Amino acid sequence: MKNYFEDHTSRSIEELISLKGKGSVITGGADGIGAGIVKRFAEAGSSVVVADIDIKKAEETASVIAASTGSKVIACEVDVTDSESLSRAAEICLENFERLEIWVNNAGVFPTTGTLSEVEDSFIDEMLEINVRGTFAGSREAALRMKDGGVIINLASTQGLSGGPGISAYTASKHAVVGLTKSLAIDLAADGIRVVAVAPGVIDTPGVNDQLEPLKKAGINVTSIMADSLLGRSGVPDDVARVVLFLASDMADWITGATIPVDAGSLAG
Ligand code: NAD
Repeated sequence: MKNYFEDHTSRSIEELISLKGKGSVITGGADGIGAGIVKRFAEAGSSVVVADIDIKKAEETASVIAASTGSKVIACEVDVTDSESLSRAAEICLENFERLEIWVNNAGVFPTTGTLSEVEDSFIDEMLEINVRGTFAGSREAALRMKDGGVIINLASTQGLSGGPGISAYTASKHAVVGLTKSLAIDLAADGIRVVAVAPGVIDTPGVNDQLEPLKKAGINVTSIMADSLLGRSGVPDDVARVVLFLASDMADWITGATIPVDAGSLAG
């Protein structure tokens, strides 16, 4: 077997954390956590495809981050429920940057589920189609093109590691992402591909705020939900992006199959 995963003991920290010359694709990269990841990757020298269903926002994000970092950042319209569009994003990465080493399955939805009797089949299908099948198909399209190895990073959730009230479909979808991460790590190791996941706690993003809006309107104080943290403040996209950068880099070259909580200790007690 080719030795993709070297001993890096003699390399410098700067070299190990750098993504210079690497091509990456971030699904759902236009906003929220995804946009935070695009920014850190571009800052670390990666050329990035912002793959999002909202092409206008993706173009805006790509142009702002390209200007502020000097890296190549381009937008591509992708719906993760459409495997052909995922395949197109991978091809666009190769055509423009000649390389695809990092793929982040970030796009996901988290609509409020309600109680078991309220959850309709169509709702479960939509949740699983985006959060699970989208991650599966994205991983496939990436792995097919990672001829010299690479890294696939999945966005799970603390709900992928524990349960919670009233969000059973989301919890099921994120437990599936954690399981998928383990099995793909086993299947792809011999191809030099690491597969890892992060499990964020509550992060202040447009998606989360959409979910909290009805609660706010109902007069419920959402501050305690946002600040579910041992570390004194609520989470922001960059809290997750810095960990994803670490996992994508050679710093994490001996990590695969793992899901890393990024939750300010919400799972601790
Ligand atoms: P967000 O809703 O703020 O942003 C999601 C981005 O994905 C948007 O740019 C949106 O246009 C895009 N998108 C949505 N559906 C898409 C599709 N079908 N195809 C392509 N792009 C699509 O979300 P976020 O809060 O940044 O969450 C990102 C990921 O992190 C999700 O997988 C989510 O489950 C996970 N996560 C978020 C939190 C949190 O508190 N924000 C916590 C745990 C896990």
